[in-house]
Amino acid sequence: MKSYEQLLLQNKSWVEEVNRRDPDFFKRLVATQTPEFLWIGCSDSRVPANEITGTRPGEIFVHRNIANMVVHSDMNMLSVLSYAVEVLKVKHIIVCGHYGCGGVLAAMGNKQFGLIDNWLRHLKDVYRYHAAELDGISDLEQRGRRFVEMNVIEQVHDLGKTSIVQKAWNNGQPLNIHGWVYDLKDGLIKDLGVTFTSTKDLHTVYHFQ
Ligand SMILES: [Zn+2]
Repeated sequence: MKSYEQLLLQNKSWVEEVNRRDPDFFKRLVATQTPEFLWIGCSDSRVPANEITGTRPGEIFVHRNIANMVVHSDMNMLSVLSYAVEVLKVKHIIVCGHYGCGGVLAAMGNKQFGLIDNWLRHLKDVYRYHAAELDGISDLEQRGRRFVEMNVIEQVHDLGKTSIVQKAWNNGQPLNIHGWVYDLKDGLIKDLGVTFTSTKDLHTVYHFQ
């Protein structure tokens, strides 16, 4: 059997398992989705949003890209954000990075990788903002871990800067933005404690009236 055929087979047994535990599961889900969370995570295959949070289909709206970035000109991210906030009315947006992130570590170095260098450039900007602290960490693994955390914090800021999030806040819509990091070594998620809940959490230069 081909490796991809295995996936289809596993899908069938997953359906059987779900139906056995909850016969109405698909009937309920097909009608609508009302997820409370938008997840912005890394594309890394080791960080699957549903599995590591113990959630089921229908519970998390997911956007993933290399190094969980919120790039203000990324039409894909903006469309996901707009739909999640304005239509689904999610209550929480979670930016979840992960230690050992290949994208973050690549951005720390000087090697060229091709097209992806354009994407990694955004990460290098994050490094430059925090260069004083990062350059002061001599252990490269520790520096990489701190860079991962700083990147998540910066993406929380970047979400708050968007007109989509600010409009929701100004309309009194409850919307919290969280910064988390997943550790590949033990599977645990750490809350970085950078929760943004209103425009007050943003520097005034970003405020829209
Ligand atoms: Zn990654």
